[in-house]
Amino acid sequence: MNTLPKTSSAGPRTCLNCQKEFKIELEDLAYYKKISIAASAEIPPPSWCPGCRLERRLSFANDWNLFWRNCDKCGKRGLSIFSENQKVIAYCPTCWFSDSWDGAEYAMDYEPHLPFWTQMKELWDKTPKMMLATDYQTVKNCEYANGIGWSKDCFLVFFADYCESVYYSSILNGLRYGMDCLRATDSELCYECIGINKCYRTFFSEECDACVDCWFCRNCYGCTDCVGCVNIRGESHCIFNEKYTKEEYEKKLKELKPESWKSLQELERKARTFWLSKPKREYTGNSLNVNVTGEYIFESRNSKDLYIVTGAEDCKLCQFVTVPRVRDCMDFSGWGNNVTRAYESYAIGEDSDLICFSFMNWSDSFNLQYCLQNITGKNNFGCFSLKRKSYCILNKQYPKDEFFKLRAEVVENMKKYPYTDKLGRKYYYGEFFPPEWSWFPYNKSNAMRFVLKEREKALSEGYSWEEEKMLEYGISMDAKDLPDTMGETGESVLDEIIQCSSCPRGYRIVKGELDLLRKFGLPLAHKCPKCREKARFARLNKPKFYDRNCEKCGKKIRTAFSPPPAGGGGSSEIVYCEKCYQAEFL
Ligand SMILES: [Zn+2]
Ligand SMILES: [Zn+2]
Ligand SMILES: [Zn+2]
Ligand SMILES: [Zn+2]
Repeated sequence: MNTLPKTSSAGPRTCLNCQKEFKIELEDLAYYKKISIAASAEIPPPSWCPGCRLERRLSFANDWNLFWRNCDKCGKRGLSIFSENQKVIAYCPTCWFSDSWDGAEYAMDYEPHLPFWTQMKELWDKTPKMMLATDYQTVKNCEYANGIGWSKDCFLVFFADYCESVYYSSILNGLRYGMDCLRATDSELCYECIGINKCYRTFFSEECDACVDCWFCRNCYGCTDCVGCVNIRGESHCIFNEKYTKEEYEKKLKELKPESWKSLQELERKARTFWLSKPKREYTGNSLNVNVTGEYIFESRNSKDLYIVTGAEDCKLCQFVTVPRVRDCMDFSGWGNNVTRAYESYAIGEDSDLICFSFMNWSDSFNLQYCLQNITGKNNFGCFSLKRKSYCILNKQYPKDEFFKLRAEVVENMKKYPYTDKLGRKYYYGEFFPPEWSWFPYNKSNAMRFVLKEREKALSEGYSWEEEKMLEYGISMDAKDLPDTMGETGESVLDEIIQCSSCPRGYRIVKGELDLLRKFGLPLAHKCPKCREKARFARLNKPKFYDRNCEKCGKKIRTAFSPPPAGGGGSSEIVYCEKCYQAEFL
């Protein structure tokens, strides 16, 4: 278990984390070689399997759980990805991006006789981190949001770019006047949708493209005025896939009473049952993909096992590319916007190139390894919290030639002296940071969003865990007493603390949210924002792919829908290969 991984051969390996077998393909070796040459450092194949690598990267980020704490520089109270009792120095966005301090103040001399990993850990602990993972200079009035850039007037919005007046939504690119959406692109005035692209006034729908005035639709493209439909193209005035005249449709829609909370519950139940009766495509994506596998893929080519990706080319095992494009990346978890050659890295964006074993680096960064929060950094190694610096090791700047010479020594140091974690696992050069360096308990990190894990399992893999603490809310109203329609709802509801219908939390309605629902003519939700978000995530397929057969032609397919269990019972999904699906629905 503690031997240095073999560097040169393809074939099966045992994952050092889960002990399961995984394969290093010839194409993987070619990729490591290409990156090694570009970065002039020999990168060995990873010792963890792809799934464990993804969990490890995601365990270092917390986009969705915010806490109140004071800025360690100005003392101002604000929302943060770190709770007050976490041992981390954190600055508010204003302080972090200000010129009043510089990461170079924390520079350390490299000590050749000490393990470099230990020196990195020292720097890791003492450098100030961003309280919010926000591209502060490009956002306006988004204090209650995280992982956001180029946006304004957003509230409890996470992992988003180019958004305006959005509430309780995440994984977005270009949503305007939207609420309770997950995975939305270029859409406007949408509510409770998952996976929408170029939609307008679309509600309670999933995986829809270019739909207008649609309700409870799934996998519909170019449809207008439809309710409860699935797999239809360019239709209008359909209810549960049945076509009506404009007049009939309008009459029927009125009878369905979509303005009433009670009717919406009934419609949702009916629609979801109806959706299940129709086949699903082997993976969710659009026809602009060429030669790809994975789930939720759009406009991508020649790429394998992608997940929630738009505009990837020659990539493998990449996730959350919300802003196209990315090229030549592997084990890369978003967000994109012209990123090339990112390997084993997370939250890299905006014209960055050649980034390895790093996270949260953006704006024209180049050739970074083991870097965290380097803004426009170039040729840095083992550097944390730096702005516009080049040729640095442990935050100390060197002349160009000296930097490359010293960096080669550091790489050798990391190959010779691994970091050993509490479980005795060793990390050599070529591995991401050890999970025990993360500030976040597994269940509060992004990993839990996409790879559910039980407490015991997480602890046994070296992650930490924190039980949810329930607060006192001072409840003033029960969700079941909320008015059935927006017409019956007064402004006074803004003063209430409402008891969520499915968890012990209390929640408030904010003014912008009420105004938006009025515009939609929709009633208030009976669940707190956390429960609504949880329900949406539960409907997403996870980044795990299975080999199974097309239900129609029997062809082997790769899909995120798990195969029916052996010995019968069957899964509830009917899955078709792309060809059979298109033959039937396009
Ligand atoms: Zn593994
Ligand atoms: Zn501050
Ligand atoms: Zn709740
Ligand atoms: Zn087929």
